[in-house]
Amino acid sequence: MKPRKILVVDDSKLLHRMFEMMLRQYPLVHAYDGQDGLERLAENRDIDLILLDVNMPRMNGLEFLAVVKADAQLAKIPVIVVTTEGAEKDAEKALAAGAAAYVKKPFRNEDLLSAIEKLTAAA
Ligand SMILES: [Mg+2]
Repeated sequence: MKPRKILVVDDSKLLHRMFEMMLRQYPLVHAYDGQDGLERLAENRDIDLILLDVNMPRMNGLEFLAVVKADAQLAKIPVIVVTTEGAEKDAEKALAAGAAAYVKKPFRNEDLLSAIEKLTAAA
């Protein structure tokens, strides 16, 4: 199976580095806010999964999710929302808006990997 290409949308450079280390087997595309994420999606038509932060400048995760889910083509890409602890409301809103799953920071490697495996296997 060809390695699944993942778009990471997060304003934290540290988190991008962490994902690079945790997800070595996946080609990653990096975006630093929702607007940037939409531009990367337009350039990369072969994204298989999106890892999405909620709190970001310019366009936040929920706004990004609304645009993605309103586009018939992009809506098919599974989205995993990465929320901070205590932000259960964000997770609920994201799921209601069409996110496939969420992981709560700080998350364990195996939880993130199993969520990714599950969603890309079904894709
Ligand atoms: Mg953030």
